Amino acid sequence: MKVLVAVKRVVDYNVKVRVKSDHTGVDIANVKMSMNPFDEIAVEEATRLKEKGVVTEIIAVSCGPTQCQETLRTAMAIGADRGILVETSEELQPLAVAKLLKALVDKEQPGLVILGKQAIDDDCNQTGQMLAALADMPQATFASKVEVADGTAQVTREVDGGLETLSISLPAIITTDLRLNEPRYVTLPNIMKAKKKQLDVFKPEDLGVNVAPRIKTLKVVEPAKRSAGIKVPDVATLVDKLKNTAKVI
Ligand code: AMP
Repeated sequence: MKVLVAVKRVVDYNVKVRVKSDHTGVDIANVKMSMNPFDEIAVEEATRLKEKGVVTEIIAVSCGPTQCQETLRTAMAIGADRGILVETSEELQPLAVAKLLKALVDKEQPGLVILGKQAIDDDCNQTGQMLAALADMPQATFASKVEVADGTAQVTREVDGGLETLSISLPAIITTDLRLNEPRYVTLPNIMKAKKKQLDVFKPEDLGVNVAPRIKTLKVVEPAKRSAGIKVPDVATLVDKLKNTAKVI
């Protein structure tokens, strides 16, 4: 069974992003970029399924500028067998990515597509769900455990107040939550091996997809600054402040 894994190149989670002075977005010039953390979990899960003998081939897909090739090489160093870059300099919104992935699903016919539950740059949490609708496939989102056997996947999901276990028939879409696994460290030999793996490049036009943005960002602003805290001399003053100043008790 083939698995398609979507990996997005995003601003590294350690970077403190700054809003551009014209409020059109965040400044990503000269900022460290990495694979979206939930997508690393997706590649790790696919790799573990391959190690268990459930999966035969892992294809990593990234959509975006040429530099996404680095993200694909990282996916291949973790365990993906080959990569596909859908190259475009256009700003990609979830619906456009879902349409590109749908075209690749038609082409590659994977038994499973694994995506992150959300990209940490846009926080959309939409692409997997849109792909499930476009490809007319069952979906299990926010997976914290995945077991694949006999043409079905048993997926445990983190829901309010507990865990829910679903059984979905393959081919299906799964999106990863934080506790699904802990991705392995990529080793130097695997980074070297990844450089030799196959990486195909397509343009959105090759897949017959129009990726023009359909949502316009009106304004991006920094969160309001928190006012400084104060020190109180004793518990009685603290209780008094909570009661009469903050009015929270
Ligand atoms: P989002 O809906 O933007 O929060 O993204 C959810 C997931 O969709 C991500 O974790 C990725 O697995 C996938 N995804 C979104 N954008 C891209 C992209 N440009 N290239 C590859 N995968 C993507």
